[in-house]
Amino acid sequence: MKRFFENMGRMFQTWMQGRYGTDELSYTLSMAGLVLMLLSCLIRPLGILYLPALAMLVWSLYRSLSRNIYKRQNERNKYLELRRGAGKKLALLKNMWRDRKTHRYYKCPYCKAIVRIPMPGRGKNIVVTCHRCHGHFNKRT
Ligand SMILES: [Zn+2]
Repeated sequence: MKRFFENMGRMFQTWMQGRYGTDELSYTLSMAGLVLMLLSCLIRPLGILYLPALAMLVWSLYRSLSRNIYKRQNERNKYLELRRGAGKKLALLKNMWRDRKTHRYYKCPYCKAIVRIPMPGRGKNIVVTCHRCHGHFNKRT
């Protein structure tokens, strides 16, 4: 019996050779698919989520078994970039909420940098200097 499982493992390894395997995107797709599937089964009005959940699981499986490694790596890099961007935005929102009584955040119209300045008081016209491009712009608080 032990030999049978060893052989099965070896056969599986041989079968998986040259295939992409799992990565962060596959993992996220699988987890999201499973959660959506569970929700669609448990909560009646969410039954419409069953098909997207199934699609996510199939996509995840397809990616894992794919032999086109270059394409899968590109998808992974895009996903990681997207996740990193979302994380930065979330961190900014968290900081804006934390500083909501002491600071103001403005977006520089020239270089799109976020400028954080101490609360100048309400109803005043101020000149904001960007820390990145040193451009000036007017804001009303
Ligand atoms: Zn700027």
